[in-house]
Formats: sequence, structure tokens, C-alpha cells
Amino acid sequence: MILLVMGAPGAGKGTQADFIVEKKGFIKISTGDVFRKHIREKTPLGQKVSELIASGGLVDDQTTFELVKVELEGAPKEQTVILDGYPRNPKQAEMLAEYMKVEKTQLLGVLFLDVSQEVVEARISNRRLCRGCGATYHLEYKKPAKEDVCDACGGEIYQRRDDQPENVIHRLKVYREETAPVLDFYKDSRRLVEIDGGKSLEEVQNLIADCIEKLEKSIA
Ligand SMILES: [Zn+2]
Repeated sequence: MILLVMGAPGAGKGTQADFIVEKKGFIKISTGDVFRKHIREKTPLGQKVSELIASGGLVDDQTTFELVKVELEGAPKEQTVILDGYPRNPKQAEMLAEYMKVEKTQLLGVLFLDVSQEVVEARISNRRLCRGCGATYHLEYKKPAKEDVCDACGGEIYQRRDDQPENVIHRLKVYREETAPVLDFYKDSRRLVEIDGGKSLEEVQNLIADCIEKLEKSIA
């Protein structure tokens, strides 16, 4: 089965997906991580992505899908997979639906983390990432024990260029125009669940745990 976690940049998708992984033993596929992994390992797809990014272009839907597909196929069949950051536009949602139909994979649900723009901006500006292992930090809620050093691997902690203020405004605009319409795609599926992502981390986690339980029951 597949579980989608959706929401604006900074809505807490990655953090909540990690929570679900821990709680439920699902597997997480984050497109950002997948891109970075392929670039780092210089795979053919990774080189294509590097070239696209270097030329100032975006990674096209087909390439993104190929990357996600490799990960989906590598995951054990009996395990539920969380997609974090995918699909990013209605076209990608269609491609995924087609793939799931062919593979006879069920959609467990679509968790939409609804968060106001102010909250999102405040969250992103405090977000940091480890250069070594990709662990995420937050300067307010999830500080590393030692400044600028990753708790998990000792790697350097940095702010992604994407998370710098001038880029955040652009990302939110892209989200509103391209990703928000994806929700319409799932509206009629009755698997779409809206969660108030503006609440505290713990409250959101509780809401998510309840939702997943209900979704699992409704599919069994
Ligand atoms: Zn690390």
C-alpha cells in the first residue's frame, strides 16, 4: 500500500513521515532524499538530475517518476510505503495512479497537513539539514546537542539553499499553483484526510496516528 503525505513546504511532511515510520514500521520514500542519493552515487538518473539542475531546469515528471519507481520496486511488497514530496503536480498524480493500477497497489490514504503561510515561513527559516546523513533539525524544536554538528553522524549541519528566505516565497508560490491542485485529484477517492498541521508536534502526531488507524480499518 501507499500512503501520501502532502502539504506546503514547511508543513512538517518529512518530520511526520519519520514519525509514521517509527510508529508503524512503514518505509519512507522522500523524493528530495532520492534525488540527493542518486546525485551522490552518480547513477545514470543522478547524472541526468545533476545536468537538469545545473542548467537551471526542473527535474521533469518522467525522470522524477523513474526515480520514485526504482525505490518503490526496491521496497518489500508487504510493507506500506510513505511518499513524502510526491506527487508534486496533477500529472505526477496521474502517473502514480496508473502505476498503482498496473501493480495492483492500494492507496492507504492521503494525509494533507494543512498549515497557514505564517507558520510555514517561520518553520522553514529555522530548518537545518545534515550534510552527511540527511537528518533534519529545527533551531527551535529539534536542536542538535552540539551546535552545527549532527547528533546521528557528526556531519555538518547547514541550511538548504531552498530554505533561504528568497527561495521560500518562490517555493510557496509553486506549491499553491502546482501541488495544491493535486488534492483535487484525491478528493473523490475518500482516502483524503485533512490534518491541522499548525498544532503542536505532539498533537499532530496523535491526530496522524488516529487517522492511520481509521484508514487501515476502512481498507481491511
Ligand atoms: Zn548526520
